[in-house]
Amino acid sequence: MAYLRDPSATSISPIRLGKEDAGGAWKTAPQSGMAGVMSTENDTQWMARALELAAEAADSGEVPVGAVILGPDGELLAEAHNGPIARSDPTAHAEIVAIRKAAEALGNYRLTGCTLYVTLEPCAMCTGAISHARIGRLVYGASDPKGGAVAHGPKLFEQPTLHHRPEVTSGLMADEASEMLKSFFRARRKKL
Ligand SMILES: [Zn+2]
Repeated sequence: MAYLRDPSATSISPIRLGKEDAGGAWKTAPQSGMAGVMSTENDTQWMARALELAAEAADSGEVPVGAVILGPDGELLAEAHNGPIARSDPTAHAEIVAIRKAAEALGNYRLTGCTLYVTLEPCAMCTGAISHARIGRLVYGASDPKGGAVAHGPKLFEQPTLHHRPEVTSGLMADEASEMLKSFFRARRKKL
């Protein structure tokens, strides 16, 4: 959930670090050991849609993260953006909102064979939900070394006790996603 915080609010002073370092939490290169970018034209199309949703979040003052879920046959099941402030719900990350919508659309608590596109590496809460939902494939954009839990921190999908791990593709349109996050926090710092 660290992406819900302004990176300048960490214990490391952004003044000593320089602007880019302070806001540079979202790296664009896929992490070693990850699947890396294996995008199809379809993946790019859906990630572009997730980025549009992320931009909508930013417009309403929420941290710009967007998510899309496709059903097993590639049909669109759910779209969502990050919205904990407007919803007064700390769990209203884009992935959680999308998972709830998709499960409702399918009438099934398991999203077996579904693909989740999200613009930022999921946090521990969302990674857990992805596993509980039995999502078949996760495609994410920017890496989140501070709050991510797929390639960073707890690396939940690598834990032997986890009952389900999706296929993971990382780094798709990561530059666009991380730039959106950086400019969001840049603008917010200016307002403070
Ligand atoms: Zn999350």
